[in-house]
Amino acid sequence: MNPTLQDGFSAGTRNLDAGGMEVISRDAALRLLDAGGRELPSLLSAAQRVRARLHPAIVTYSRKVFVPLTNLCRDYCGYCTFRRDPGQPGAHTMTPDEVMEVVRAGERMGCTEALFSLGDKPELLFPEMRDTLRHLGYKSTLHYLEAMCEMVLRESSLLPHPNPGLMSVEWLSRLSRVAPSMGLMLETTSTRLLARGAAHDNAPDKVPAKRLRVIEDAGRQKIPFTTGILIGIGETLEERVDSLIAIRGLHEKYGHVQEVIVQNFRAKHGTPMASWPELDHQDLLRTLAVARLLMPRMNIQAPPNLSDPHYDELLDGGINDWGGVSPLTPDYINPEMPWPHLEELRRRTETKGFELRQRLPVYPEFVEQAAAHSELLAERLGGSADPQGYAGRAA
Ligand code: SF4
Repeated sequence: MNPTLQDGFSAGTRNLDAGGMEVISRDAALRLLDAGGRELPSLLSAAQRVRARLHPAIVTYSRKVFVPLTNLCRDYCGYCTFRRDPGQPGAHTMTPDEVMEVVRAGERMGCTEALFSLGDKPELLFPEMRDTLRHLGYKSTLHYLEAMCEMVLRESSLLPHPNPGLMSVEWLSRLSRVAPSMGLMLETTSTRLLARGAAHDNAPDKVPAKRLRVIEDAGRQKIPFTTGILIGIGETLEERVDSLIAIRGLHEKYGHVQEVIVQNFRAKHGTPMASWPELDHQDLLRTLAVARLLMPRMNIQAPPNLSDPHYDELLDGGINDWGGVSPLTPDYINPEMPWPHLEELRRRTETKGFELRQRLPVYPEFVEQAAAHSELLAERLGGSADPQGYAGRAA
């Protein structure tokens, strides 16, 4: 073990997670994130050893269709190309028929997840969205989302996974009856990024305390939950580590965080952060490895399309999931970065010594927890999951 890793695990700074597993200290995590290129191989080896000890030699992915229910959003994140104001080219709220058209196409291609991505509460800012919702027959975007999740659950073989932004306790409960899992990226614990000109300037739903509150409320309700961090948006290394530790703390308390996404910022044309420097590949690998050493047992995901053409190297950082990969729809959040072809993903994963397995939007170990939320979910999960909890109809 190299001196920095040794130091992190040393008796004086011994840290144990809730299950009694030794983890690196906050100080060691910081030093490792800041370490030079010479330290990287031993850091990656340590992360791989921890993964090998606690996880099977399986890397999972969810075969999904992307359902951008509405791209109207009341926030203005500095890196976002997804959002639109009403009347802007491409502004759109999908009709139920359009949702089912995408879902049917996904069924034909062996997909098991309908990922609902949408802007946060657009009707609070835009009268046009209030009109659209009235026309569709719903009081709010969340009422409409709930109905669309239930429709997909009842009428198709896909399972919905909504990402609607901030949710109240009541809405977490309502959506948990029509979706086996849901998500909200913490992104960061940094409040500095809410300042004028920073990434979350004019993004009221990105206040870290509000997002941590939602993740905690989901924990209290035992909802299988996806969250993660967005790195390279102006956060300090301390803030990056503290964001991971905050997620781990909530999972240790409630046991509901099914995966932690480590997503790297990519600069996008036409956004306020178009000329912001992108993360160095080694920095991403270091962050993945530190995440693995901070949360050894948890599922850690990194999106392959944001690291193309070197995405297979992300496995060296100790991840065990590729996230949602679509054979059909583009990544509407990162439309310029296509998903890897699934056969290529399989080949590269196997070359690294892992089996690629299709999972449902809810991870195998959380299927039972998800099924407890409604009879409809129990019935649908019973028909979708194989005996180990992976996708039963895997293609
Ligand atoms: S990242 Fe999400 S919350 Fe921020 S502007 Fe885009 S759609 Fe809205």
